Amino acid sequence: LEPLYSFMIRVRVPGGVATADQWLRMDELADAYGNHTLKLTTRQAFQLHGVLKRDLKATIQGFNDVLLDSIAGCGDVNRNVMFNPNPHLSRVHEQVYEVTKAISAHLTPRTSAYWELWLDGESKYSSVLNDAEGDVEPIYGKTYLPRKFKIALAVPPYNDTDIFANDLGLIAIEENGELLGFNVAVGGGMGMTFGMPDTYPRLADIIGFVPADKAVDACEQVVTIQRDWGNRENRKFSRLKYTLDRVGLDVFRDELNRRLGFELEPARPYTFRSSGDAFGWSTGPAGARHLTLFVEGGRVLDTESSQLKTALREIARFHTGDFRLTGNQNLILANVAPEHELAVQAILTEHGVAVEANDVHTGLRRGALACVALNTCTLAFAEAERYLPQLLARLEEVIRALGLAQDDILLRMTGCPNGCARPYLGEIGLVGRAVGRYNLYLGAAFNGERMNKLYREMVDEDGIVRELTPLLTDYAQNRQPQERFGDFVVRQGYVKPTLSGLTFHD
Ligand code: SF4
Repeated sequence: LEPLYSFMIRVRVPGGVATADQWLRMDELADAYGNHTLKLTTRQAFQLHGVLKRDLKATIQGFNDVLLDSIAGCGDVNRNVMFNPNPHLSRVHEQVYEVTKAISAHLTPRTSAYWELWLDGESKYSSVLNDAEGDVEPIYGKTYLPRKFKIALAVPPYNDTDIFANDLGLIAIEENGELLGFNVAVGGGMGMTFGMPDTYPRLADIIGFVPADKAVDACEQVVTIQRDWGNRENRKFSRLKYTLDRVGLDVFRDELNRRLGFELEPARPYTFRSSGDAFGWSTGPAGARHLTLFVEGGRVLDTESSQLKTALREIARFHTGDFRLTGNQNLILANVAPEHELAVQAILTEHGVAVEANDVHTGLRRGALACVALNTCTLAFAEAERYLPQLLARLEEVIRALGLAQDDILLRMTGCPNGCARPYLGEIGLVGRAVGRYNLYLGAAFNGERMNKLYREMVDEDGIVRELTPLLTDYAQNRQPQERFGDFVVRQGYVKPTLSGLTFHD
């Protein structure tokens, strides 16, 4: 007899775009083998929790049937490639989505072990993943990367994929509605280790511009430099961000130019306005209708008051568009057919799901992110997803009294400093130190272009509310027009601005 091992399986969804059939299958698998919930992650992937060891194979075969896989959901390779999840926003979004898929396919490991282990050597889409090269890894080689690698793309002014938190970020540059290419940003990463100030979160630096048709090549070459130059002796320092701070940006850029065989052009101007999602119905340029739903903590489940999982299952049975997972753990029903709009609305309402999240939830709750933490993640020191709603309820009493209920304030909570919910990009960041205790960080930029700074250590729930109340009061009374909370606490001197990863702990 062996213990009843249970697992989390992360299912990759490049750009967060899943079909209705894929949604239905994930829903079924969560019921058949998981814990009857789906977790939408901060990297636009699905997670199934509580899958018993004996059910792993059937689960993986179940999602392989609908062309989903868990290859590179974990490990020292390129992970799920992120992108603004609604390609129907504009033609440029469609073009960038194609680049997203190309990068994802190009950087997917070629190993046949996955297929041998779980699928008896068979794949439904072997053309991309299990080609004639067999186990030769043309990009990763025999030793793969020193550490995980993350890529995100974004079309300004929306930075909802938090591209600066990634090893490699591509910022789309367009002209007259056509994609020209991308500003290339390298060296982002959120993780750090408590008690080791040599470890730090870092935002990516923009090093130039690459034409659209060279973007995949640029990604490959950034990956290969990290493969060759990354620290393989100590995993605490093996992400690209440490490689960059060791060799310097200029040396890295020169090496990239050399490997590419051409020089990156100077970066082009762009502006990011926000990193959150816009909720409710929207209309694309061709008249397509989309509905962005708020999913608290990214957890799709049924409760007494709201049967989100059941409602989405019913919609998936007739919805001819897509299900799009956002980088903020929310969900877009994209391309809702005109004849289905009323039915979608009715099903959601009947099951207690808010169609227009802005009418029901505070700005603070709408923008909040939480990782799974306890009791799912073995690295967690503290609660996040399960506890955050309770903390938010207390903070909502404060912001409602101050007239800030509809102000968008980004709050992000994780159970440990690894930073899966990108807490260092929260205007309010809470990082678990021990059960019931958090480090409180303040002052990130609303558009994802500045990290926050440690404000208080080891605070409990009462302490968090006590510390934030005077700051929120000051904000309500003394902010400038349009000023964001993160900018305000920096301007008022509550925290110093964090201008680089190396000064994060200063
Ligand atoms: Fe990630 Fe840490 Fe949260 Fe686990 S507890 S999900 S490692 S941030």
